[in-house]
Amino acid sequence: AVGKKASYSIALLEGDGIGPEISAATVSVLETVATAAGFGLSFTPALIGGAAIDAVQDPYPPATHAACEAADSILLACIGGYKWDSNPRDMRPETGLLAMRSRLGLFANLRPAKVLPQLIEASTLKREVVEGVDIMVVRELTGDVYFGEPKGIDVIDGERVGYNNMIYKESEIKRIARVAGNVASKRTGKLCSVDKANVLDVSQLWKDVTTDIMEEEFPAVDLSHMYVDNAAMQLIRWPKQFDTIVTGNIFGDILSDEASMLVGSLGMLPSASIGEPGGPGVFEPCHGSAPDIAGENKANPLAMILSAAMMLKYDLGRDEEAKMIEDAVEAVLDGGFRTADIKSDGDGCELLGCKEMGDKVSE
Ligand code: ATP
Ligand code: MG
Repeated sequence: AVGKKASYSIALLEGDGIGPEISAATVSVLETVATAAGFGLSFTPALIGGAAIDAVQDPYPPATHAACEAADSILLACIGGYKWDSNPRDMRPETGLLAMRSRLGLFANLRPAKVLPQLIEASTLKREVVEGVDIMVVRELTGDVYFGEPKGIDVIDGERVGYNNMIYKESEIKRIARVAGNVASKRTGKLCSVDKANVLDVSQLWKDVTTDIMEEEFPAVDLSHMYVDNAAMQLIRWPKQFDTIVTGNIFGDILSDEASMLVGSLGMLPSASIGEPGGPGVFEPCHGSAPDIAGENKANPLAMILSAAMMLKYDLGRDEEAKMIEDAVEAVLDGGFRTADIKSDGDGCELLGCKEMGDKVSE
């Protein structure tokens, strides 16, 4: 996060599949907002994923890392496709994404699940349960059982034994708690920390450290704690009880996917990955590269457009302009305009292509 400035440089990573189409739509929306608000924006395109493998045999080339480090913020579309699926691991698009996240030190993943009134039918749950849901899951991204050492599969006493370690250092919990405190402060001030402290020692540390940080640094934040099994249940039973949720890597992986199903449509879900204050974050839609519809002007650009709104809010100190974009998206939906993925038969809505949807939001 660089905070408010007169002009910003954005690294633009279009990636693969529908990436170029949704990027073009998003850039046009951002340029419209910047012009209206009177700030400057410049975009530096760089290669990542399959496109980078094809061009320079590296899914996260040094030139891309340099462009990302030099930028105020990073806007990413999506990566991957059938073409690279059988490549060795270091030549897969996904490897590029993981390399970028780790090299930029992005330890916090923010995934909102906001149910828009216009798309309530897309949710898997009943109207009264999901109406008005607006949740932000803050997931720790670089620790936990995914990275704990030692790990592996060994033969012990004549049979194979697989093991991973759930490890969190105090410093890792502190920094994610601070991100969550800031996020919750920008929202309703309500924060629920999710753990499994009744069983796991590492979770008890998580709970203790989170409690201390909130008391010392975010006294206005209303902190509660919940065990992960209960949280999984409550998210489906009565999701409106949550505003901001903070949790570790594996619990967050599961809960953020669960929360996204409250919204229903993949084409509407943005995300942010952020690191230490001052460094650039990466803002990207949750969906993949949708190779089945690439190049056909059918993709829904709204998840990436909403990711751009998150970039304005969380990296560039432009809360008002972020709100402008969110309001414009809602106005377009209110106006009865839909891309194919969010249109249903007989809804009376007008079908738009990717570019036309971008243009409508810009209006
Ligand atoms: P990844 O593994 O990278 O998450 P995936 O293969 O699991 O990707 P997607 O690429 O997200 O999944 O595609 C899943 C389905 O959703 C496809 O049918 C795709 O066309 C559709 N889809 C995904 N994103 C969009 C979008 N923005 N607009 C319209 N349809 C989309
Ligand atoms: Mg997939």
